[in-house]
Amino acid sequence: MKHKLVIANWKMNGDFSSNFSLLKSIVAFADKPQNTQIAVCPPFVYLSQVYDLLESSPIALGAQNVGFAEKGAYTGETSASMLQEFACQYVLVGHSERRTLFKESDEHIAEKIKLAVAHNQTPVLCIGETLEERASNETQTVILSQIKTIIDKVGSEVFKSVVIAYEPIWAIGTGQTATAEQAQQIHALIRAYLRSLEPILFDEMTILYGGSVNENNADELFAQNDIDGFLVGGASLKAASFEKICFAG
Ligand code: PEP
Repeated sequence: MKHKLVIANWKMNGDFSSNFSLLKSIVAFADKPQNTQIAVCPPFVYLSQVYDLLESSPIALGAQNVGFAEKGAYTGETSASMLQEFACQYVLVGHSERRTLFKESDEHIAEKIKLAVAHNQTPVLCIGETLEERASNETQTVILSQIKTIIDKVGSEVFKSVVIAYEPIWAIGTGQTATAEQAQQIHALIRAYLRSLEPILFDEMTILYGGSVNENNADELFAQNDIDGFLVGGASLKAASFEKICFAG
């Protein structure tokens, strides 16, 4: 049975009371799906609450972002060392919402990855093509160049600690999922590309799929050879849906 990683990206959602009930439900089933690591990425202000509620559960804590500098005059930012104090194991980097809405550059993404790895966190590098890029047959070029750009900036030794999340931008929050075949095709491409670059270092890299994953499509997606799990937005806010996704396969 292949190992599965399922990461909940709550985005800018939640409050003390709904976080409490959602986590109560997730904690109740979290030790049952076999070979599955579950992680939850709440908004920063709730890290402390979620950290307390996850104590002694097998669920990992993650952050939705991290600052690109170690410390200093960066108003509004949160550093990798601060996340380390909350035992954050995963950090999302380069999510398309951050690339688009907050103009996050490849340089910043690379710095974030380096800092996260230096502070014992697994960076989850989000990549994906727009609808226009897919329509003009540029998907493969876009995806591989997004990966190559980051490898060139952080180096292979750091990059080997990264988890990749393939998230077609047209599928995020739209209800329009990539078909299992479309997702598998890109995951296989990514895996083959990584192996061609560094056969030993990149052999076992985890590649997640994200983009409108829900309780109805998770089984078929996870059945694909090169899909190692999911990055889940909307459906991770509903305990029953998230549970089915965690049990997929
Ligand atoms: C995401 O934000 O990473 C995501 C995949 O969102 P959704 O599942 O809502 O499409």
